[in-house]
Formats: sequence, C-alpha cells, structure tokens
Amino acid sequence: MSQNKKGFEVPKDRLASVDAAGSRVFIHPAAVKGFFSRWRKGVHWVLLILFLALPWIQIGGHQAILLDIPNRNFVFFGLRLFSHDAPILFFLFAALTLGLAFVTAIWGRVWCGWGCPQTVFVDSFFRKIEEWVEGGYLERRKLDAQDMDLRKLRLKTIKWSLFLLFSFLISHSFAAYFVGREEILQMVQASPAENPGVFAFVMFMTAIVAFDFGWFREQFCIIVCPYGRIQSALMDNRSLAVLYDYKRGEPRKAPEVPAEKQGDCVSCFRCVNVCPTGIDIRRGIQMECIACTACIDACDEIMEKVGKPKGLIRYASEKEIESGERTSRFGKRGFIYGAATVVMLLGLTWVLSQRKPFYAALIRSIEAPYENLAEDLVLNRFRIHLKNHRPEAAEVRVAVNVEGVEVIMAANPLKLSGEQDFHQPLLLRFPSTVLAGQRQRPIEVQLTYKTESGLEHLVVKPIALLGSATAP
Ligand code: SF4
Ligand code: SF4
Repeated sequence: MSQNKKGFEVPKDRLASVDAAGSRVFIHPAAVKGFFSRWRKGVHWVLLILFLALPWIQIGGHQAILLDIPNRNFVFFGLRLFSHDAPILFFLFAALTLGLAFVTAIWGRVWCGWGCPQTVFVDSFFRKIEEWVEGGYLERRKLDAQDMDLRKLRLKTIKWSLFLLFSFLISHSFAAYFVGREEILQMVQASPAENPGVFAFVMFMTAIVAFDFGWFREQFCIIVCPYGRIQSALMDNRSLAVLYDYKRGEPRKAPEVPAEKQGDCVSCFRCVNVCPTGIDIRRGIQMECIACTACIDACDEIMEKVGKPKGLIRYASEKEIESGERTSRFGKRGFIYGAATVVMLLGLTWVLSQRKPFYAALIRSIEAPYENLAEDLVLNRFRIHLKNHRPEAAEVRVAVNVEGVEVIMAANPLKLSGEQDFHQPLLLRFPSTVLAGQRQRPIEVQLTYKTESGLEHLVVKPIALLGSATAP
C-alpha cells in the first residue's frame, strides 16, 4: 500500500486506467499492424455492416431481427414468435447462452476480441475517428496531457460532434431492433412530439452510445460487463487465451541480467503500449484482457526485428505454455457446456417441430360471465384471441359440440390475413335446459382453421357453460 496525494491508502497494484488518486487515466493504445490486426479489421467491418443493416433487411416479409418486447412480437430471420412461443424463446436463448459458455471454455474470450459490439465499435470505428481528428496515439496522449487552449478545444469539439452524429445514426438502427423499422422511419419523418416515447428512447441511446464508445470504453469491459466478470469461471487451463510464453521470454532483458542468461523478451513494452486495456500480458492471464490480439502482432513485429522466432506472445492455453506441447482444448467444462448446448438445441428443434400453424384462446368475461335473458335463454360472454402463424390468409370456423348452443360472432367463419393477431367478442346463447338444472356444464369449442393452400388444423378448447343454479 502507498498514500496518494489526498492521503488515502491505495494499493500499488492498480488498473492501468486508474491513477493513484483513483481518477480515470484515458488509454490511447499505439497502432499495430500484423496478421491478426488485418483479420480483425475485416471481421469487424463485416459485423459493423451486419449490425447496422439487419433491422433494414427483409426476410420472409419481416425485418431480419425484431425484439418488440411491449407487443411480445419477436422475429428471427423470418421466424415470427409471439408471447405464447415462450418455450421456443427459452430454448433459443438458453442455447445461445450455453453456446457462449462452450466457446469460452474452448476458445477463451474470442467473443470479446472479435465479435462483441463494444470492441467492434470502439476499435474499428470510434478510435479511427479519434485518430483522424486528433492524430496518432502519441499526439493524442500529448493533447490530453496539455492544458485547454483554442486548438485543443477545436479538436475536442470536432471529435465529440462526430461521435454524437454517429451515435445518433447507430441509435436509430439499435432502436429499430426494438420498435421496428417502420416506426423509426415514421418517427424520423414526423415531429418528435408525435412519438415522444420513441424519440426519448433514441436520444437516450445516442447519449449512452456516445458516452460508452467515446469515453467509457475499456471501463465497460473491466467494470460493467457481466460476461467479462464470469469468464474466468468458465475457463480452465486448457482454454485458449492470449498468453506470454514466460518460459521462453524470461528472464527478460534488464541491466542486471547477463546477456547469455536473457530470454527472448527485450523489455520494449510494445505489448503494453498497444493494449487497449493497458495491461502487461507478461504478468500472466488477467481479467482485463479482452483477447484483442494486438499484443501478439506487436510482439511478433519486435521478434522479427531482433531476429527471433515469432509467437513469444500467442494464442495458447496455460497448459500448453506450461508443458511446451500442444494439448487438447476439451476439458470437463468444455464437455459439460457442449453437451448442455446440444440438449438446448435438440429442445429448440423439438418445440419448433411442435409449433402449430394457428393459436386460439377463449377468455371468459370477468365482469358478466353469464346473463339470464328472457324466454329462458342464457348468454355466456367470451373474448376470442386468434393468431395465424402462417404468412397466407386463413378461415376459422367456430362450432360447439352441444346441440342448442348458438355461437354469436361478427362473422363465422372468420377471415384472418397472414400472421394476423385477432381479438373479438364471442357469445354463446342457449336455452337454460342445456344446463339441466346445474350451475355449469362442460362443453367443447371446436375451431377449424383452413388456409388458402388447403392446410387444415383443428383446435379444441374445453370450456364450461355457466348459468344460474335456480334456472330450470
Ligand atoms: S512486445 Fe514482446 S519483447 Fe516487447 S516487452 Fe512485450 S513481450 Fe517483451
Ligand atoms: S493483453 Fe493483449 S490481447 Fe489482452 S487486451 Fe491487451 S493487447 Fe489485447
């Protein structure tokens, strides 16, 4: 422990992005070129385009991905799901979560370095804008360290104006995933006062995106991201990680180490300089490492210059570094997560195969479930809820299995357009003799669904007819 300027005890070992007083130190990593940088750049741009384009692409008549939570309407690449499809959503999200755990157990934080929107947007977009406006990493570090003057004010204003502009555009695509692109397009053309909710959501997202990608950056990975916090529990010594080969590198170059005893590390600190989270990978695997591979390329560049083999920092498992041999990545964890993912995928396949083309529900009126009419007639009130899961139009005929019970609806058969969600009152009228002096009588409502292409499906809903016990 040591004392900071304010007299507080602070640990000597602290985050590179935090100073002795606990304030944020903004990290400007050095630019790096190499095999992984090139591949990451390509992958990042594909993902950037996908993320921004997916809500605007139509698949099977719907936007590719829609997560309309208030209306419980979800679309995944042409498959439209509703609230009653919760088992499908459960298996889908469980398979994705366990699949990520499996990938982590085998390939470590490959998601963080290659696929996470946080890394993709910060590394390949926002940091590029920053570099374009403020210059290379040394110029940026210098600019941050100097006092505010007109030049600094001008550069920071340009940078943050661009950040806000791109955050505004990104937020529209982001909001389109949740509210639908039609709503977003309508909102853009109308006054904000007409859609205050969506407008407030987009403004809020703009502020969050600009704050996170423009300023918070690696702090999100280190402090906020739950996946970042649990990944060490998902990995073991067989998992792939970006690691320093200490057996080859140590003892690193230092004045007190005789030249003939020195390992391959020349203590150039290039790997630390390029790290977006500011860590020194030579200290071993650390939770702050997002496996971005920048230090691999940086060290390979140095190894090439000093005439030593590449790979002092490389993708490897702790076990491989320890043993010096290539080992299998499949441990107990990998097997358990892999098996659990397969079970969830089988569950998903099964619930999808069981999915009916048509959903029907009958909801009894709570306020007036039945009413005694004149001429010994009884009326039962319901609300019918139908969903046509297929894209083609369909007809639904409603009937009951008891003679004398009349089905009263606006139309019978009902016409449903493709994928229509339909609500309507439904009344059942019958002579009180149908109840045979009881308060209720179980019956079945049969709903026959027919599509234009000839698909037929029958749904039977057991209900009870209600009436007064004193009715004859
Ligand atoms: S870049 Fe390589 S040689 Fe340089 S300090 Fe890092 S590990 Fe050592
Ligand atoms: S240690 Fe290497 S892989 Fe990990 S975050 Fe830093 S530069 Fe990226």
